[in-house]
Amino acid sequence: MCGIMAYIGKEQAYPIVIEGLKKLEYRGYDSTGVAVMNGSLSVYKKKGKVSDLETFIGIQKKNGYIAMGHTRWATHGVANDVNAHPHLSKDHRLVMVHNGIIENYNELKSHLLSQDFTFESDTDSEVLLQHIEWYRSSFSLSLIEAVRRGLGDVRGSYAMVIMDTLDPEKIVVAKKDTPLAIGMCT
Ligand code: GLU
Repeated sequence: MCGIMAYIGKEQAYPIVIEGLKKLEYRGYDSTGVAVMNGSLSVYKKKGKVSDLETFIGIQKKNGYIAMGHTRWATHGVANDVNAHPHLSKDHRLVMVHNGIIENYNELKSHLLSQDFTFESDTDSEVLLQHIEWYRSSFSLSLIEAVRRGLGDVRGSYAMVIMDTLDPEKIVVAKKDTPLAIGMCT
């Protein structure tokens, strides 16, 4: 269980998120990633340090006023670029980072496989995201309602941040048994 940093506001989000991830490095981690929205969604993930991610991103697109970042300590799936967070939903509409463990991910995954969902990573976190997407798309729910319903089925611990690429004015967060701090600048 490692760290998450997310930002929405009037400043460029990427440098704030990277700075936040660096402050969380002391907790230890094996891989890292960021998602930035600015008309389109850019997702960058890398095994290794935050500085390796910065080098990898280089001059690639990272402007935008909404972003999330993650440092991962692998619990489900080896430490590699694919298993690093953020993860994307089936149609790449939702993007999510998660810290913690989804204990019943196998059960949720079996149901999703029967519903034609596929998985890019080996993580329990991607299962959680696709489970939320299943609620959203099957019942035409708002993101917040889909998150609420999805988490209602979960056993485990989590701090998570999720964004909807079709609603880039909002970040949805949730937590259980792990810390989550929300700050507001005026
Ligand atoms: N269980 C998740 C994974 O293995 C999250 C690990 C973490 O908290 O960093 O990807």
